[in-house]
Amino acid sequence: MEESKKAKTNTANLVKNYIGIDIGGTTIKGAIINHSGDILREARIETSAKGDGEGLRNNVVALVNEMVMGYGGFKSSFGGIGIGCPGLIDSKRGMIVFSGNLGLNYYPLGSVVSDSLGMSVKVTNDANAAALGEAKFGAGKKYKDSILITLGTGVGGGIVVDGKLFEGGSSAGTEIGHTVIVENGEPCTCGRKGCLEAYSSATALIRKTKEIMQENEDSAMWKKYNLKMVSGKTAFDYAETDEAAKVLWIGTLNTLPVALPTLQIYSVRKWLCSAAVWRHKKINSQNPFRSCWTNKFLRGKDTQVLKLLPLRLVIKQAFTERQL
Ligand SMILES: [Zn+2]
Repeated sequence: MEESKKAKTNTANLVKNYIGIDIGGTTIKGAIINHSGDILREARIETSAKGDGEGLRNNVVALVNEMVMGYGGFKSSFGGIGIGCPGLIDSKRGMIVFSGNLGLNYYPLGSVVSDSLGMSVKVTNDANAAALGEAKFGAGKKYKDSILITLGTGVGGGIVVDGKLFEGGSSAGTEIGHTVIVENGEPCTCGRKGCLEAYSSATALIRKTKEIMQENEDSAMWKKYNLKMVSGKTAFDYAETDEAAKVLWIGTLNTLPVALPTLQIYSVRKWLCSAAVWRHKKINSQNPFRSCWTNKFLRGKDTQVLKLLPLRLVIKQAFTERQL
């Protein structure tokens, strides 16, 4: 009796659709997704002002209602809502412990959204959500274990072990970007100095591009850009024609393999790296980063497979939302 009841419930869950929410600094994106990971409907809404938890809740609720009504469904026909949120998230409690991007501390996003909509809600860090999504439906689906690294405004990451998201203590065990790689180094947004994020993020690249342009007044970058126009793409635009730009982006990418060996403890079979840069011009085919990574990081480690892949959704987000 119990068995057949369980089987029936599992079948019911299989045919249910789910709602995914990606909270960003300027936009909240939503999607209705079926059990195979296909996106059936997408919508977006502007993010409320920083520090406005109630505004954030209202926006998420409005977005979900819009999608459910537009899809012609009922809330009860959905299996639940998964929210990816920037910052330190206690996923067990659905709590935003700290999010600098959203200006929120100890905000119980999961429970307030769940109470408002009467639906089951799970909240996790956005890089964790991306890692789990890619592991289940994307570039890592053939592997039981994978690590995803996101390069954007900051450096984030998620670890999937045996098909499950590994979040560590207080859901904060995979803050890859805040691994210190330089003692007393560049200041980081977390308040410490020398974190990977202070060297390998788009924010760091923009800062360094400006510095190197000022030091190299004959740089080709100066001919097209002034300092206000510099973006994360500037150095890559001139990677093949401007020596200063080439040195800059190779230097920036070289910082990643310094930090990542610490993650070898997970013995993963698949490494995924997502960033807008992989889509840029010929960089993926002539990728000096690939060889520098392999040499520094995986030499002699034939049990591991390294693959750098453009991850469509994250790249799209990086280009449109973070204006890389
Ligand atoms: Zn840091």
